[in-house]
Amino acid sequence: MAQRSQIIWLFLVLIAAIVIASLAWLGFSTVNQALPETTTTTLRPQSYNFKSFPVLEYHHIRRPEARWSRTPENFRQDLEWLYDHDYYPMNLRYILTRFEGLPEGKTPVVLTFDDSPSNQFRYISDAAIDPECAVGILKSFHEQHPDEWPLRATFFVLVQTNSPDHNLFGQADYAERKLQELTEWGMEIGSHCYSHEKLNKISLDAARFTLARSTYTLKALSGQGIVSLATPMGLYPTDESVFQGSYQSLDYDYKLVCEVAGGLQPVPGSAKFDPHHIRRIQTIDSEWAKFFNRNSSAQ
Ligand SMILES: [Zn+2]
Repeated sequence: MAQRSQIIWLFLVLIAAIVIASLAWLGFSTVNQALPETTTTTLRPQSYNFKSFPVLEYHHIRRPEARWSRTPENFRQDLEWLYDHDYYPMNLRYILTRFEGLPEGKTPVVLTFDDSPSNQFRYISDAAIDPECAVGILKSFHEQHPDEWPLRATFFVLVQTNSPDHNLFGQADYAERKLQELTEWGMEIGSHCYSHEKLNKISLDAARFTLARSTYTLKALSGQGIVSLATPMGLYPTDESVFQGSYQSLDYDYKLVCEVAGGLQPVPGSAKFDPHHIRRIQTIDSEWAKFFNRNSSAQ
């Protein structure tokens, strides 16, 4: 009797083992389910299907088209072209998270805006944004493509210059509201120094002062931490260690610093990646042709 029941038990255990092994083989085991997710999360940043990405550089959005001006019509066409070619807008600071959230099959594009003139963000009444300024165009494009084109861009903002139209987007009464709204809508505020200082012409102490003061003011107005800088005119200080530090009691830390030119930007993690020398592409027809092979209909 004992021997027979042992054989039956062995038989049942064997059957159970075969069933469990089969389920595991078919992918039903919890271990198998958990692995791909973990692997994807860990490896995702290394698995880009692109070696470089564009950081585009805009100044004025106004007519006529010129070296430092893109017309509202051409800016709209730029967005259409990028959308049609599977680009996805991200803020510059997303480099630090290696483009977390980038949809499969898309290439990131960073739209950057220098010098904060009012044609980048202008209120025409308390309730209405100028539909022809950069923010007006970005918002209406986002409304047409709510999921595929989120409101993302990086604005390198000036605080105080001799040109009132460039100080915090030019409308003093709206300055704080604009910086807070850009933050709420998901866009990034970066520094362009406090007053557009040429960083190669001033002392390192003066460089620390403008960098600290800019961080402090922009953070206080917008509520967001400031990690990105575009060097005015692409001019660099003699000692780049000044990009992090403090001036008196004001700490600052520019993790990403943009040039004014340079072409496509290598991906983070690659040998050519240098966070203090982020390359940009100026948004004029010749650059679109050179880097995107785009024969623009821009006028
Ligand atoms: Zn500038």
